[in-house]
Amino acid sequence: MTQTITVIHGDGIGPEIMDATLHVLDAMKLDLAYEYADAGMVAMEKTGELLPAATMDSIRKNRIALKSPLTTPVGGGFSSINVELRKRFDLYANVRPAKSFPNTLTRFPADVDVITVRENTEGAYSAEGQETAADGQSAISVTRTTRKGSERIVRYAFDLARAAGRKKVTVVHKANILKSTSGLFLKTAREVAALYPDIECEEMIVDNACMQLVMRPEQFDVLVTTNLFGDIISDLCAGLIGGLGLIPGANIGADAAIFEAVHGTAPDIAGQGKANPCALLLGAAQMLDHLGKPEDATRLRKAIVATLEAKDSLTGDLGGTGTTMGFAKAIASRV
Ligand code: ATP
Ligand code: MG
Repeated sequence: MTQTITVIHGDGIGPEIMDATLHVLDAMKLDLAYEYADAGMVAMEKTGELLPAATMDSIRKNRIALKSPLTTPVGGGFSSINVELRKRFDLYANVRPAKSFPNTLTRFPADVDVITVRENTEGAYSAEGQETAADGQSAISVTRTTRKGSERIVRYAFDLARAAGRKKVTVVHKANILKSTSGLFLKTAREVAALYPDIECEEMIVDNACMQLVMRPEQFDVLVTTNLFGDIISDLCAGLIGGLGLIPGANIGADAAIFEAVHGTAPDIAGQGKANPCALLLGAAQMLDHLGKPEDATRLRKAIVATLEAKDSLTGDLGGTGTTMGFAKAIASRV
């Protein structure tokens, strides 16, 4: 059955990396149909809205979107269009795999393979109770952690570990100091872990986890953590494998899922054919896994790795002189 996905070309380098990604998906001859929708600056210029109702309807209907980076203009009504999309569709799980690839610029050993599962809707980023005193001398914000929120993200991490044949989940927390919020997260995580006797569960305090990730990244498998720690840790993991151009992100909820690159719109290189399309392509691979097409996801990842190995048409960030579409064509020839 043909699967229709919502495709958002986005801003900056967005249209280039999306065209490159669709070129590769087309070469794979998958049973996919695209429904194009606008968001971000492009949508603002066309419709006066950052997130037009037609785009929301399209995602709601198809339940799957492939999205390029978006620009959130100042004064656009929300602080971040990406955060807004996650909130509106309750996309509670943010899954960011960091895996070593050949011929990338990294100072770490080539055996990093860590999936960060970040809680995406609550914790320190719940945007509640942000207050600065009238005299500007003090400020508070609320960190809200719920049992429901903790339970569903930890379950997601263990289910993912099981489905992907992973051995261990590391629960990253700070329950020794943040006794109520991180404490509830850890307590809930222990209860959930008990339901998965086949997967090893390890607990690690966040500061130690950061050091361990840098010292011995190969010891980690799946990480699960709260919103703020997950934001920081997943960028640390991006650094381990040579930067943002190679990390995709899946935002998953019960009713919809949005797949993307974790990098931004890169205005400095937009429109020049210099952008590396790999992060969005790897997001498309996550999407294929999510659609129950793991063989196709593997085929796509293998073609990317083979192209990196052959140093065929690599873009500038990887030390090559290739173009976005040239790189995509080299990958497409290997799918
Ligand atoms: P935004 O505000 O949308 O996040 P930004 O100015 O912060 O945009 P990023 O997209 O976050 O820019 O990129 C940071 C740096 O990494 C830039 O120098 C950019 O050129 C580079 N970069 C990001 N993505 C890619 C990519 N896919 N290929 C090559 N370089 C990239
Ligand atoms: Mg940025």
